[in-house]
Amino acid sequence: MGSMADSKRLVTTDDIDKLKQLLSGTNAEVRGPSDSGYDKSIERWSKAAEKPAGVAVAPTCAQDVSIAIKYAAENGLDLAVKGGGHSTAGVSSTNGGILIDLQSKMRKVDVDPEKRLLYIQGGALWSDVDEAAWNHGLATVGGTVADTGVGGLTLGGGYGVLSGAYGLVIDNTVSFETVLANGEIKRSSKEENSDLFWALNGAGQNFGVTTEFVLQAYPQEKIYMGTMLFPAETEVISKLVAALNELYKVQETPQGPQTKSLGRAMSLVGFAKPPPLGGKTAVLMNAVYDGPEEEGKKIFQPFFDIGPIVNQMRLDAYPNANKLVPAMYGMRSSMKGAAHMMPIREQFVHDIKGAYDGFIDTCEDAAPSVVAWELYDPVKVATLDQGSFANRGYHFNSLVMPMWSKPENDVRCRQFARDISTMFKKEIENHGAKASGGIEGGASVRGSKGAVLLYGNYDQYDEISKDVYGDNYPRLQKIKGQYDPNNMFNKLFAIQPEKASSQL
Ligand SMILES: Cc1cc2nc3c(=O)[nH]c(=O)nc-3n(C[C@H](O)[C@H](O)[C@H](O)COP(=O)(O)OP(=O)(O)OC[C@H]3O[C@@H](n4cnc5c(N)ncnc54)[C@H](O)[C@@H]3O)c2cc1C
Repeated sequence: MGSMADSKRLVTTDDIDKLKQLLSGTNAEVRGPSDSGYDKSIERWSKAAEKPAGVAVAPTCAQDVSIAIKYAAENGLDLAVKGGGHSTAGVSSTNGGILIDLQSKMRKVDVDPEKRLLYIQGGALWSDVDEAAWNHGLATVGGTVADTGVGGLTLGGGYGVLSGAYGLVIDNTVSFETVLANGEIKRSSKEENSDLFWALNGAGQNFGVTTEFVLQAYPQEKIYMGTMLFPAETEVISKLVAALNELYKVQETPQGPQTKSLGRAMSLVGFAKPPPLGGKTAVLMNAVYDGPEEEGKKIFQPFFDIGPIVNQMRLDAYPNANKLVPAMYGMRSSMKGAAHMMPIREQFVHDIKGAYDGFIDTCEDAAPSVVAWELYDPVKVATLDQGSFANRGYHFNSLVMPMWSKPENDVRCRQFARDISTMFKKEIENHGAKASGGIEGGASVRGSKGAVLLYGNYDQYDEISKDVYGDNYPRLQKIKGQYDPNNMFNKLFAIQPEKASSQL
């Protein structure tokens, strides 16, 4: 996607020696392919996203990052930035260029309990944030899988367990420290370099390397959470769809639009083949209620009544809400985004199950794959408006996540993900679009900000920048022209800088 690696020269041993020299007075590590730590630097959550960097630099501060960026710019080398390494599209990897590996040595999280602020280094994982904040009785909106990176997830928007209460991660950012394409280190916030701040909140990977995120946190109690498994039988699916439609329906009230749980419930519900069921398809439901156990039990009672075959719901420490999905490193995967709206149509769910079973019956290697519907109270995400993120609205993310082991299945598994995503698109066009305000129906369904209804961080293969950034694209181009006129940061939903676009 938009990589210019092919037109750039490859890193040589001479470059590795020079970088080692330039960074010799620092705590950064420069790792050539034969150095220890190199393999860890190029490791990604999805094996299919790994590429052999020419050299990896593991910085410890913004100044180290600045040295590496300037060296890449002056020497015409491709540059990639690794945060948590979870992008499945290879956009944090480089073939033969310089990799800035933030994850290795930049994971510190400092907490200011009085101001409830979290100072997070650019390579931190959400587990680092969750634990540090929880030690002070705090939490913020963060990824639902603890080993995803703060970097990519935040810069592209960020949905989490607390989104119903506080919106996206980018609705809770206070400031950033970012190293720009010219090596300059810039802070941005609503008050300082506010254009850059706006751009970083949603299209952030395009403007530099963010070495510090400052996030607002909130007092946090224990939380009611767990996994339930249901047999994927027709009648069970029918009851589950009805219960979900009831729980996540947005209703007009004198206090404004809200759902039954008042922003406290979140669920991830989908088809999977969990090992305890011996390869049988099940409906997996990860459910969270941010409140006391008795309230949580009431909220999820309709699901208990359906009769889960496994029920692990309990009151637990907040960080464990983001560990309900296991880390699962070492497989190949290609995440594909989709979207859905309320109410979910029962027949559509049966159709998806048919397609899921049909594919996995012919490709056993892909048995760990998942297709899921995410559900939360969408009101905050739809109505808050910090940053350049354009996918806001009363729709929800769905997730198509093929997972497999053999490289020879790459094409088939990606095609499966595209086919399922297309089914979701058609469903929104034919059914959901009529049910939700602010959405234009028809062949290309778009939200109120002119973007396709897809979360860019879930869909890094097929969608194009103008569709993901919608009406915000022209302003992003202007800011890009100012901060990265030569388009150095161009790997994910690249933005054509304004100057260059006028020549198109
Ligand atoms: C298992 C799994 C669970 C997920 N769960 C969620 C979820 O709950 N909520 C959600 O919103 N998304 C979720 N995602 C999607 C996630 O937001 C993206 O995969 C995102 O790209 C991950 O960021 P990362 O830093 O881990 O990835 P990386 O692959 O390291 O980076 C992704 C992109 O961001 C850039 N980048 C990373 N850090 C920085 C930085 N500090 N400065 C500049 N650029 C940077 C990289 O260069 C690259 O372009 C999930 C993905 C997976 C695979």
